[in-house]
Amino acid sequence: MTTTAFINGRIFLSGVKPGTNPSPTSPPTFASALVIKDSLITAVGSPSSDPTIAAALALPDTTVVDLAGKTILPGFVDGHMHLMLLGQSLQKLDLGACKTLADIQSTIRAYAAANPALPRILCRGWMHSMTPGGVSAADLDGLDVEGMDRPVLVDTKDLHSAWCNTAGIAALGAEKWADVPGGIIARDEAGRPTGVFSEAANITYVWPWLASVAGMEERMDAVRAAVAAYHAAGYTGMVDMAMDEGAWEAVLALREQMGGDFGMRLSAYWLVKPSASEAENLAQVDRAAELAGLYNSATTPDCRVVGIKVIGDGIIDACTAGLSEPYSHDGTGTNPIWTREELEPVVRRAEEKGLQIALHAIGDATIKMAVDVLAECASPARRPRIEHIELASKEDADRLGKFGITASIQPVHADPAILRAWPRLIGKHRCKRAFAYREFADGGAPLALGSDAPTAPHSPLGNVYVGTTRRSYREPEMTTTVNENFALGLCEAVAAATEGAAYSCFEDGRLGRLAVGLKADFVVVDMHWEKEKLMEARMKETWFDGKRVWASDE
Ligand SMILES: [Zn+2]
Repeated sequence: MTTTAFINGRIFLSGVKPGTNPSPTSPPTFASALVIKDSLITAVGSPSSDPTIAAALALPDTTVVDLAGKTILPGFVDGHMHLMLLGQSLQKLDLGACKTLADIQSTIRAYAAANPALPRILCRGWMHSMTPGGVSAADLDGLDVEGMDRPVLVDTKDLHSAWCNTAGIAALGAEKWADVPGGIIARDEAGRPTGVFSEAANITYVWPWLASVAGMEERMDAVRAAVAAYHAAGYTGMVDMAMDEGAWEAVLALREQMGGDFGMRLSAYWLVKPSASEAENLAQVDRAAELAGLYNSATTPDCRVVGIKVIGDGIIDACTAGLSEPYSHDGTGTNPIWTREELEPVVRRAEEKGLQIALHAIGDATIKMAVDVLAECASPARRPRIEHIELASKEDADRLGKFGITASIQPVHADPAILRAWPRLIGKHRCKRAFAYREFADGGAPLALGSDAPTAPHSPLGNVYVGTTRRSYREPEMTTTVNENFALGLCEAVAAATEGAAYSCFEDGRLGRLAVGLKADFVVVDMHWEKEKLMEARMKETWFDGKRVWASDE
């Protein structure tokens, strides 16, 4: 038995229950001491008034840690992220600093020359704004070293599109790909792919190809790298939002190799891809149910399949989000990827099988459909959820709480630095409805904060900073705010990033708060409890299951 007592600190006591509609200015409460024994929290309070703490301090073998005023927060739980993609992206060339096509080309050329042994050149961080004239495979041809022509594959920062060179088209076998509903394969007049694959075409073809060419060791390394990066950021839990066979196999193999514990509480939503028939859609739900039967709270509490995820539309920047009115710049419309008739049977089957349901919906038309379908077919007791909810009408914002729908939100996507195209794409009037978190909370929706990594930075306090100040985390000197009237309070946002995310997948009885009997998952942070000062906060230590798994070397 190991007992550790942390004293002279600020131990955050959330006090914000999911769905309770707190005031944005609700003040925090702190205790001064926390005692953990093995993997559990055994006392929270003050040594002078709590006899358990006084007794623990009196024992000779208790380790006493003087926090010297530092703060302890519950271990963060990322409410929406992509484990395998994050791990793989940590291994890819980052193009995020490029401004033009020429920058992209010279960055890839230098990387290819420096890495002659790589079988393929994988890159991330491309934004459409870097290449306003559009792109094709030819733009990535001829960047390799003399005598080599390896496949080059570039992800957009949001992961909704992939762009490859001519060798990439050949390696993917893309010449033979048929169009899929909700997907775009860019083609020339003769119908040949020109190197860009978006939305469902990317998910259906490119992701599985990448997963299939990555060997088991490479995938296990990716998971390991993602877990290590998450410990360093202050996370002890993650909710994966697009689990598939290749990633799940690697997670299980790594877990096995590490003796059944890979240092992270993982809850996974199985991705159901739009397919040619209802039977194929339902077969994917059945596969998720089969896995949930094997990997659940009773069998493998830290490595579970909890539900299904359906991607209802794309994103505003690529003009693929489903809007009720056409896009402002060109008057075109985009429909949700799934019709209501296609979506309902999938949701009903998941409900029948006892699975949780997560629907990705960004544009107002898709959000309305998602709320309609969940209101009709999903039981609130199973905590259904909608992902992103970027441009909701007031009416739908209010309906979330009414139907017990968790608002799964990623403030890092509300960063003003990446919304520069929105006024042109959807018009200033509609921008006023963007990221209406305040309305979700006031309507009684439970909030779960997530980062959507690797599509956005995964710093939990960076995420809280954007959610509470509505200012930029990516470009902190930028003073623009995005609909400040929709800001969350600091307690509320921290609770949504811990207790709320745990609640979203039924982990709240075990994780997400600093309370007696819960898991000893927490972080030690050097911070001031002020939203404007969150950018200066420093993670010092991350503890998982009563053990320190990461410490800063400052
Ligand atoms: Zn996502």
